[in-house]
Amino acid sequence: MKLDVDGIIIMEKNISDSDKLITILTRKKGVIRAFVKNAKNIKNKNFSAIQLFAYSDFSIYKGRDKYIINEASLKNCFWDLRTDIKKVALAQYFCEIILNLVEENCESENILRLMLNSLYYLANGHLDNRLIKSVFELRILSMSGYMPDLMCCRTCKRYNNFKMYFDMIRGQLVCEDCLEDMQNKYELQGGVLSALRYIVYSDFNKMFSFDLEDKYKNALALITEKYLLRHVDRKICTLDFYKKVM
Ligand SMILES: [Zn+2]
Repeated sequence: MKLDVDGIIIMEKNISDSDKLITILTRKKGVIRAFVKNAKNIKNKNFSAIQLFAYSDFSIYKGRDKYIINEASLKNCFWDLRTDIKKVALAQYFCEIILNLVEENCESENILRLMLNSLYYLANGHLDNRLIKSVFELRILSMSGYMPDLMCCRTCKRYNNFKMYFDMIRGQLVCEDCLEDMQNKYELQGGVLSALRYIVYSDFNKMFSFDLEDKYKNALALITEKYLLRHVDRKICTLDFYKKVM
């Protein structure tokens, strides 16, 4: 059976001197793993289209229990992100999150769009890496069934002009009056609550169009990262690497 899909390569692994196995986040089929024959042959016309982070069109043969790449044609290789180790580390972290949250044969169009947008902003360098990371973490969680409720305090329903905390366990807001204990609660200072709301509730094509005072970017980054790690529930090795090089 033949399958035509577009997608981003999120993992590559050499399996012999000439062959490799690539993992692709596709538009319509979730995450799939496919073999590439003669991948290291420089004459292979698919060469640039089958590297990590390449966004390509793939023509794939689907056998009974495995996929084999027939042809691949590159659409974007995000070249500019490959020149900066911090950006590469962050892109690898995004790949590892996808590997943890997305399965084969699931609806993946919006996650592909999120990844394409995130790599685009990482590559062009116009946005702070911390903000790109927070948007990626919170939007992919929201698309994977873990959207936090950021409308109002879960108890008294107040929504504004009040000291608010984020309950990391329940993914909800709680105000100072209704706060019973500080366990797993994070105070939302400055524009952090507005930024969280913007990331979760904004239109897809506007989700990166916001800014936050520099002194609050680390607070936002801490909250989105902790919320992600709580739901991924396993060690993410690429995050440690990102922290070493950032
Ligand atoms: Zn309250």
